[in-house]
Amino acid sequence: MLTEAEKRALAAGDVLRLKKPHPCGSYDWTVLRSGADFRLRCNGCQRMVTLPRAEVERRTVKVVDHVELGF
Ligand SMILES: [Zn+2]
Repeated sequence: MLTEAEKRALAAGDVLRLKKPHPCGSYDWTVLRSGADFRLRCNGCQRMVTLPRAEVERRTVKVVDHVELGF
């Protein structure tokens, strides 16, 4: 569970660990874009999805890393 402060601080480059794994087996996703909707990329298979912010906040266990995005 994220704290309210952690939810507010979510930003592009954050690596999020989710409660349930992607079908590829990875729990970790990189935030490509934050806002009302989030663009996430699976760290296992590189597949991208768009999710409403509230769903990202609900599904995230913790922020495990922050990376510089190459674009
Ligand atoms: Zn995946």
